[in-house]
Amino acid sequence: MREAAFVDMQCAALAAVAGRAPDLPVPRVVPGLDGRPFAATALADGAPRVVWMLTFLEGRPLAGLRPVTPDLLGNLGAALARLDLALAGFAHPAARRELKWDLAEAGWIRAHLGLIPDARRLALVERVLARYEAEAVPALSRLRRSVVYGDANEHNVLVRVESGRPARLAGLIDFGDMIETPTAAEIAVAAAYAAFGHADPLEAVRPLVAGYHRVLPLAEEELAVLDVLVRTRLAVSVVNSACRAAAEPGDPYLKVSEAPAWAALEAFDRVPPRLAHCAYRDACGLPPSPGGPAVVRWLEERRGSFAPVLDHDPRTAPVAVLDLSVGSRTLGADPAELETPRLTETVRRAMAEAGAVVGVGRYDEARAVYTTGAFAGGPAAERRTVHLGIDLSVPPGSAVRAPLDGTVRLVAENAAPKDYGPLVILRHETPAGEEFFTLYGHLDAASVAGLAPGRTVRAGEAFAAVGAPPRNGDWWPHVHVQIILDLLGLDADFPGVAAPGRRSLWTGLSPDPNLLLGIPAERFPRPEPDKSGTLAARRTLIGPSLSISYREPLKIVRGWMRHLYDDTGRAYLDAYNNVPLVGHGHPRVVRAVREQMGLLNTNTRYLHDNLVRYAARLTALMPEPLRVCYVLNSASEANELALRLARARTGREDVVVLESAYHGHTTGLVDISPYKFDGPGGRGRKPWVHVAPLPDDYRGPFKRDDPEAGPKYAAAVGRLLAAEVAPRGGPAAFIAETLPSVAGQIVLPPGYLREAYRHVRAAGGLCVADEVQVGFGRLGTHFWGFETQGVVPDIVVLGKPIGNGFPLAAVVTTEAVAASFANGMEFFSTFGGNPVACAAGLAVLDVVAEERLQERALRVGTHFLSGLKRLADRHPIVGDVRGSGLFLGIELVRDRRTLEPAAAEAAYVVERLRERGILTGTDGPLHNVLKVRPPLCFTDEDADLFVSVLDEILAEDPVRAGLAPAAR
Ligand code: PMP
Repeated sequence: MREAAFVDMQCAALAAVAGRAPDLPVPRVVPGLDGRPFAATALADGAPRVVWMLTFLEGRPLAGLRPVTPDLLGNLGAALARLDLALAGFAHPAARRELKWDLAEAGWIRAHLGLIPDARRLALVERVLARYEAEAVPALSRLRRSVVYGDANEHNVLVRVESGRPARLAGLIDFGDMIETPTAAEIAVAAAYAAFGHADPLEAVRPLVAGYHRVLPLAEEELAVLDVLVRTRLAVSVVNSACRAAAEPGDPYLKVSEAPAWAALEAFDRVPPRLAHCAYRDACGLPPSPGGPAVVRWLEERRGSFAPVLDHDPRTAPVAVLDLSVGSRTLGADPAELETPRLTETVRRAMAEAGAVVGVGRYDEARAVYTTGAFAGGPAAERRTVHLGIDLSVPPGSAVRAPLDGTVRLVAENAAPKDYGPLVILRHETPAGEEFFTLYGHLDAASVAGLAPGRTVRAGEAFAAVGAPPRNGDWWPHVHVQIILDLLGLDADFPGVAAPGRRSLWTGLSPDPNLLLGIPAERFPRPEPDKSGTLAARRTLIGPSLSISYREPLKIVRGWMRHLYDDTGRAYLDAYNNVPLVGHGHPRVVRAVREQMGLLNTNTRYLHDNLVRYAARLTALMPEPLRVCYVLNSASEANELALRLARARTGREDVVVLESAYHGHTTGLVDISPYKFDGPGGRGRKPWVHVAPLPDDYRGPFKRDDPEAGPKYAAAVGRLLAAEVAPRGGPAAFIAETLPSVAGQIVLPPGYLREAYRHVRAAGGLCVADEVQVGFGRLGTHFWGFETQGVVPDIVVLGKPIGNGFPLAAVVTTEAVAASFANGMEFFSTFGGNPVACAAGLAVLDVVAEERLQERALRVGTHFLSGLKRLADRHPIVGDVRGSGLFLGIELVRDRRTLEPAAAEAAYVVERLRERGILTGTDGPLHNVLKVRPPLCFTDEDADLFVSVLDEILAEDPVRAGLAPAAR
């Protein structure tokens, strides 16, 4: 009986796997009581059947999983490789069989192509089939063979999803397609399905192939046919669907399963086959172009012998190596510096200062110019930033010469995304007959008008001239020189700039043009360390308690308004940093600091107008009687001073604080910060510190719908004062953030501070408002947080945003409190209130007023809040959305009834937002509140982007996995 032999083969194979790779998650065969793996039986009508039993694997199918991460695909590839290793040498007569899915025998589909009605799709399948017959069939007999599982489709791959954790591989099931065939079919089948749903199939296939290759290295000839086998599998799949549809018309299920296969086939069709081949090789750590290393070796051997590309020989002429990197200090952060004519002027100046006749723009440099203007995608998009050539800057019209003999491959206009002027590609050959190409960009159109493809160009011959703006991309005049080892059939579309995620692939295809140019290495400055170098240095040199955000740390080298840029030029929307209040690198603040620093910076023991001007401007923003200022460097320093002021005024020591509060990092402030003294490493509450409950009207006993919630929470302060503080002599101060931030972006219920302050003052204490996070217009409705509660504190503490990143903090209080503090002991902070810091503070105040940032915070924040509230309607995990202006919190809960915090999910969301190009963080005692407090120049579009990306992430399986069953 055929079925029995086939089941016997599967059982034997699974037994072999169980023996050789016991931890591989595949089903086990449960033998019958007679010890045999299966039994023959018959149905009631006498029809023969084979019965066997397999163990159950926990998990859900990969199909429909969101997101399918590169890690997961890598692990799938590795698991398939381990499976193939376990099956190596396994043989069974039933494994040699005919199967329509056998990639060694896919030619059968040719007879059925007539079933594809759509002409375009038919042509697509015909293209794949022609390649299969021309490339794969002759190679198949040379490939290693083994029995393969051959069916890693998205319904047979099981995954485990736990809340807040990326899905993990949980199993492989359904061994019904096992067959003896070329081993490479295993990964080809998996790759075909992995590509489902990806606009760029290489994104999915590369990690899968890399994972496989790590465990079971693919041979060069296997990699050479992988692309065509993957496409062939998809072609077989759609033809098979067409056959079944013809046999069973009207079965809607067939159509559903067919659609993603067509989509994947069409997505692959947009990828040049040679690009796919090179990309898979690169994913395996091989040189992307098989013939590339020989060409590079030849170029290296002849280094120094090539003709100069310019009339000046950059080997000997004075050259200036330009820094056009993302973190270039020459360019700064202002995108206007990256546009003509300013960029041209910067290059000219850098060359003049160095006395250079040639400016050199570096190879393999991630550049800022590609982060702006025509190159700017949304922050969520990965931009191409890595320069694949060397730019030689010389006056327009300068001759461009061939470094070695060649023929003209093409002369083309390079017009996307803007007019870059003509480019020329020359074809060359090594003596061994290996071809390669050199590309010259941004040329003068007239100079190449007579240059025809096929024409011979001799080494040293001037075949073109350098173009001039605006017809060279409107850039500074230069020729872009690039080596291309494999044109991939792309010709004029061969990129000159690569996405950072594909850096090794493209630099592997376009090696350093300095192989030809020969600019001495010592002319190049030492490159900045890459991210791993910086991380390693930090780990040894900086104390480990200084934490680093994100699982994959960010190396940020540039900031402009609402965006931060990492060293690869990737832009991130900053929804998190409230310090750059008016925007990262705001030119007004930068100019004020630069000018003052260039004139004078000293301490406050001399008279300086900046200090008094700043104090006058600050106090003018405060209600009476807050009229006296102290200017300091950090909010911690300011809160320390606030404590000293209160103690000097009252002659008492005790302080009342709110649960989960944070007020700073000094010894004294850790003592009054429950978030610290009750947190990891904390040493507990000091007797002079008294903790009042957090007036959290979402989680606490009194809810938002209770109009008396504020006074009710405040009553607890009164009780605390009476019971705990009075017996110790009464309070010096009650200190609270006016919207508690570290405690979870809490909006105090109306009337809370009014009543709390009343209790504190009745007990003889001072009321201190920590406005460090919330003040300065961020709330939109009011300039200060205390105004939202209709109170006037005795002491206000300011910090963080008020210098827009320049260290600056302040304490504002009453004349009476200041007088009590003037007890003979001098108060002095070396840097506090220095002219540069005050210049920064003054500029920030100017910008806040002139750009009407408080109004803007209200307008954009209201729009943002309503977008977030709509998410709460759709995603049960969004328990609460709250805040004011651009101070917002999104509290995630697994169950809206019990409010079980979704901390792992919140951490997951923050990581995913970062992967999607948006920066946030979590906060709150339960770590389940997404904290949103962007620079105030945030726009409606930024808010919309945030909401739509968050919307997608909240629908991902690791977010939904922990939801209460009813909400799932
Ligand atoms: N108060 C509050 C409310 C804060 O959030 C912080 C810092 N996060 C501080 C004070 C201390 O600020 P700094 O780190 O600038 O000293």
